[in-house]
Amino acid sequence: MAGDEPITPATQRVRAIDASMRTLAIESLRAIIGILIAFSISWWISGALHLRNGFGGYAGTAALFVVAALVALTLTSGLPIHHALAAQRSEILRQQGLLQAAADGHRFNSDLHTALEMAEHEPDVLQVIGRALDLVSDGPGELLLADASRAHIHQGAASVTNGGPGCGVSTPWSCPAVRRGQILEFADSHALATCPHLQVRKEEVSALCVPVTILGTPSGVLHLTGPPDEPLDAEQRARAEVLAIQTGARLGLLRALVTSEIAATTDSLTGQLNRRSLEEALRRLDNEQIPYAVAFADLDNFKVLNDTHGHAAGDRALRHFSTVTGATVRTGDMVSRFGGEEFLLVYVGCDVTEAAPIVHRLRAALAESVVAAGVPPFTVSIGLADSTYATAAAGIIAYADTALMTAKREGRDRLIIAAKPEQVVDAASWAAG
Ligand code: GH3
Ligand code: MG
Ligand code: MG
Repeated sequence: MAGDEPITPATQRVRAIDASMRTLAIESLRAIIGILIAFSISWWISGALHLRNGFGGYAGTAALFVVAALVALTLTSGLPIHHALAAQRSEILRQQGLLQAAADGHRFNSDLHTALEMAEHEPDVLQVIGRALDLVSDGPGELLLADASRAHIHQGAASVTNGGPGCGVSTPWSCPAVRRGQILEFADSHALATCPHLQVRKEEVSALCVPVTILGTPSGVLHLTGPPDEPLDAEQRARAEVLAIQTGARLGLLRALVTSEIAATTDSLTGQLNRRSLEEALRRLDNEQIPYAVAFADLDNFKVLNDTHGHAAGDRALRHFSTVTGATVRTGDMVSRFGGEEFLLVYVGCDVTEAAPIVHRLRAALAESVVAAGVPPFTVSIGLADSTYATAAAGIIAYADTALMTAKREGRDRLIIAAKPEQVVDAASWAAG
């Protein structure tokens, strides 16, 4: 059906030409009628004034007719055509303005999308928002985000402002826009139906509040203010809405990535590195030929501890050992839960003689702290080797494991330094054997 055809700029031009042709036909008819009337009036006047005598009289009649025809043409066709053209002109300008605004809106959306895609961390995202706020309105604007607990919303590290006086809202749920999950617009902060956080401002303002949702949770608000009774126009509102949606989407994606990265690299019970990420870290140390010592720690008689005090007490003991170990290592060293009740500690830049005192301090700290920590007493056996024993992590760990087995055999609760091989074992021989 013709009525269902999409309205394109070409369709609009064809319609304008059709309208012009109709106008031309109507105005031509009017012009003919006007000329006939002008001719009749001038004929009648020249008759009444007895002008139609001799050449001069007919020339005067003709002049009268020309003047009357010009007046009639102007009134019947000239002015209506002028009005019609003026109306068409202003309609074309209006449509051009709308097209320009739509093009600007599309460019804003795509520039914002590109900028946010390049933002790899939350501070980068906030920087982009700060710049984008300038493109939304001339007035002050701010993005207020809740902190990690989602209990507080404030002008902190997680917020950005381009000169806004700062909304006094303190928690996401005390913001009416967040609570309702919809955009709220206030024409005047001193009006009756105004957000309480706006009412307390000294100066009168209008405001637009757009909730920001991150991973399905209301987590903040985009807040724009301007002069009273001068609310933002439809274009500015649309930009603010897009800004809030894209901000929430990008922050959600980055937070999900961080969460999944943490889940993939750490052990959920202790929060320490898992075996896979520790092995990757050791591969990097091997490749860069950075020396390190490895302590293989296995909690003693842990099965008995579990059987006697229960699995929950066993979990608490594992977490406590992890905490004590974490407190004894330096920045750059690594602690990993290698499996069940086995931990691997890596002392970067150390050999066994430098690492041994640190391991002894760990055992002493554990002995001192277990009772106070409310976990059943337990000890740990540890085997120690370093990167002079073998050229790759697998070999070094195997030496530490052998030393650990010796510690178990000799009565547990002790540190054994692995016997040094006569020849350093290279990675290839470990792979083969
Ligand atoms: P040893 O001194 O020879 O190391 O004796 P052990 O009992 O510690 O050694 P064994 O390998 O026989 O038992 C290890 C125990 O660690 C068995 C298992 O139930 C416990 N365990 C492993 N992972 C967890 C865990 O996540 N939580 C708890 N509570 N226990 C665990
Ligand atoms: Mg074990
Ligand atoms: Mg054990």
